Amino acid sequence: MAPPAPVPPVNPSGSPHSPPPSHTATVAGVPVDTRHWIGGERLASASATAPATFTDHSPIDGAPLAEIARGGVAEARAAVVAARDAFPAWAATPPAERARLLHAVADGVEARAEDLAAVETADNGALLRSHRRGVMPRVAHNLRYFADRLLALAHDDFETRGHTNHVSWDPAGPAVLITPWNAPLMLASWKIAPALAAGNTVVLKPAEWTPLTASLFADIAHEAGLPAGVLNVVQGYGAEVGEPLVADPDVRRISFTGSVPTARRIAAASAAHLVPCSFELGGKSPLLVFADADLELAADLAVEQFDNAGQICLAATRILVEESVRDAFLGHFLDRVTKLTQGDPRDETTDIGPNIHPRHVERVDGFVRRALDAGAKAVTGGGRNTALGGNYYLPTLLTDVAQHSEIVQEEVFGPVLTLQTFPDGDEDEAVRLANGTRFGLAATLATGDRERAGRVSARFVAGTVWVNCFFVRDLSAPFGGSRDSGIGREGGDWSFDFYCDLKNTVTAPKGWARHG
Ligand code: NAD
Repeated sequence: MAPPAPVPPVNPSGSPHSPPPSHTATVAGVPVDTRHWIGGERLASASATAPATFTDHSPIDGAPLAEIARGGVAEARAAVVAARDAFPAWAATPPAERARLLHAVADGVEARAEDLAAVETADNGALLRSHRRGVMPRVAHNLRYFADRLLALAHDDFETRGHTNHVSWDPAGPAVLITPWNAPLMLASWKIAPALAAGNTVVLKPAEWTPLTASLFADIAHEAGLPAGVLNVVQGYGAEVGEPLVADPDVRRISFTGSVPTARRIAAASAAHLVPCSFELGGKSPLLVFADADLELAADLAVEQFDNAGQICLAATRILVEESVRDAFLGHFLDRVTKLTQGDPRDETTDIGPNIHPRHVERVDGFVRRALDAGAKAVTGGGRNTALGGNYYLPTLLTDVAQHSEIVQEEVFGPVLTLQTFPDGDEDEAVRLANGTRFGLAATLATGDRERAGRVSARFVAGTVWVNCFFVRDLSAPFGGSRDSGIGREGGDWSFDFYCDLKNTVTAPKGWARHG
């Protein structure tokens, strides 16, 4: 690891103990409204079931960023009612006009990309350069893609004994969208765009650790002309405001990205009203490195798994290497790790920033401690970055781990990889290890043999397979996970299939009134 740079404060002017009691917080120089956005109005919390606010901290230095309105039962209901009331007019808005408005929101995102990037980095600690150059352009692209796709949505009519079948996508109603903290606005917009394009209205509940860009997005959408109630944002904790949202009888769709235990609770709550859910959950994906692979490329792919400090659901955290190339692969990998710079995510030269929250770092470290106690060896990393302190955790690779062990089976969601080997030439064993967890989100494969790539890819249990690459994601592709990694697929027309009620209209060739 390169030597760390000191981390300056996120809000140099803010008092560490008493943020101003106004409804605006200034974060990274950008004013952010801290209230909910419901029915086209800013509302503070008035819920009897929760305190009025909670404090949002920066993972960069732990500084308090804002006092955020903390929703409860009343805010959840108010947001769903606003979405329900706005639904008929939005559903009846011609697709071309809905698409125009989504493009206008995308224009607004592009115009405020610098603000959004700075605030997102202060709030979730991911690299500023990636928010600027990758994430915020992608947020705008999410909106534009689904706006355009809406206008192209069509299924060929087909005939049954002279009758015409015509398939249409009808808006389903209010959609509740619940997002995690690891890619806040990226994941919110990936759900908001198809839901709104489809003619649904939306209640977004961002994660409590990263609520800020959702609030800026509400302003942008409003300024772009989105009618009141079409997009609502309620803030707060899952147990306080998330639960009443997903149990509300007026909700017609729930799209959730987050952890498996939360998905189980949402599935149980939504069952009362038989509301269709889309679940994008955790992963423990493999990276298979065969002896015939380009080992430099394989090492690049492995080091990429430390992006976002390992807080990426798709991360290939289990490296499975063919025995005979283990040492060569490891050499290339360690070469690269020593060149990584950990530090302030606002610094252009930083490769790995902090993890999201002290509680999360504690959890990550718990996994590593227990693995080391059970006999694992840390070839690199293995603990907190003590030079930086705070939420900074060293990029870690653990060897000598057993397939059934906790560190191999459970999602850590931090910069922690494991390395296992499989016997030379034993493709069956490689696939058995790769598929040997309860997850099935993604799988990555490094090989120089096209036939092997085809054979092995076909045997993975995974929603996405990458061959000699990682994280190439096209919005037209189906995205989701198998087993505990999720239910359903979004992306492309699959998103419209989820957010809409599909209808087939069958028209007979006879019975028409004669004219003239
Ligand atoms: P989490 O499940 O704790 O929280 C996610 C969201 O759910 C938050 O907004 C939270 O407030 C809300 N929530 C919590 N309890 C709720 C309840 N009872 N009812 C309604 N909402 C509730 O997950 P997290 O820790 O924020 O996120 C990390 C997880 O997300 C990891 O498992 C990661 O793999 C997963 N993830 C998956 C994908 C994907 O596309 N598959 C993408 C990113 C993250």
